[in-house]
Amino acid sequence: MTTVNKDYLNLRGSYLFSTIAKKVAAFQEANPDQRIIRLGIGDVTQPLAPTIIEALHKAVDEMADAATFRGYAPDLGYEFLRNRIAEHDFAKRGCQIYPDEIFVSDGAKSDSGNIQEIFGRDNVIAVCDPVYPVYVDTNVMAGRTGSFNEELGMWDRVIYMPCTAENGFAPEIPEQVPDLIYLCFPNNPTGATVTKDRLQEWVDYANQHGSVIIYDAAYEAYITEADVPHSIYECEGARTCAIELHSFSKNAGFTGLRLGYTVIPKDLVVEGTMVHSLWARRHGTKYNGAPYIVQRAGEAVYTEEGQAQIKEQVAYYMRNAKAIKEGLAAAGYSVSGGVNAPYIWLKTPDGLTSWEFFDRLLDQAKVVGTPGVGFGPSGEGYFRLTAFGRYEDTLEALERIKTI
Ligand SMILES: *Cc1c(COP(=O)(O)O)cnc(C)c1O
Repeated sequence: MTTVNKDYLNLRGSYLFSTIAKKVAAFQEANPDQRIIRLGIGDVTQPLAPTIIEALHKAVDEMADAATFRGYAPDLGYEFLRNRIAEHDFAKRGCQIYPDEIFVSDGAKSDSGNIQEIFGRDNVIAVCDPVYPVYVDTNVMAGRTGSFNEELGMWDRVIYMPCTAENGFAPEIPEQVPDLIYLCFPNNPTGATVTKDRLQEWVDYANQHGSVIIYDAAYEAYITEADVPHSIYECEGARTCAIELHSFSKNAGFTGLRLGYTVIPKDLVVEGTMVHSLWARRHGTKYNGAPYIVQRAGEAVYTEEGQAQIKEQVAYYMRNAKAIKEGLAAAGYSVSGGVNAPYIWLKTPDGLTSWEFFDRLLDQAKVVGTPGVGFGPSGEGYFRLTAFGRYEDTLEALERIKTI
């Protein structure tokens, strides 16, 4: 008789954003004349930059001609893209990463979810709390997280590293030594960052204890402060303990186009095995590569015009972030993030829970945000607003929030 993978049945409730969508739909149905402003989901809104569109058109035309047509892409991705990445994202920053250590993919969500499968099922993971839910849920699916404690809202085989106002939303090194450490800076959902010195401590710790750090750098393009590292490979010794994930979604608007990459240095060896070769095998067996036309679009991101155009888009979102942060602070809210990330993380007022504040904001201001508790138990009492909306909408949302 067929059975199902029971680990999937352990997954918690419905996904955060589907609950939000249901509440918003119900409100809209009951109030058809109200215009709701959505500052909830982390998706970009600006169209793709002209240089990227041009590259796409050109690549599409190449596909129409037998002389320039491309079929399956090379396993790691096209060299024209990996060379650009190695040069621009690493060499220029003094990081020693080679093109054959870069695996081009369809984005950081799939890579951050899939990467766990090349590690043993008995590994203990550590995550920031609050956290991007993908890291935890994919380990639940893999049967790595033990049983769920309803009261605490925690898995008993997961090490939670609280990130709250008390520690400046920066995780502390846990007492119990984890095998896999998920870090994401600039952070989704808190918008917090770590300094290079602080990240170096994590790298030293991982090397000392034989842990592997999975470093999600999806928001690297939003960094404005000088002492915040753009890559974990800026830290000494990271080549022997860290995997890094990148995405073209938030820096260049590829959320619908799909492109990302994962870096696994060949010096990363676990139990005598190069982790790089495991991921290469996995990639080659289960994946046939990001589309040629999309990899050409990715290449265009690294041209001079491409860089200038995407910087403008990031600046557009960061103008929103600044407006939200300053507006809320002026209205008496306790706010963080928004300086090196397109997320504003606020403390809910009047001791409201995250969901109570969600309801108040929707009912009274017609603004949608994301309840902090949806990202983990330490997110209770917090709320996330994103800077990905239109500037005019963002300002109007702020005016409305100020009146409640
Ligand atoms: C948006 C996001 C990603 C990127 O996902 P893609 O699949 O590349 O679109 C990765 N990690 C975090 C934390 C994110 O918020």
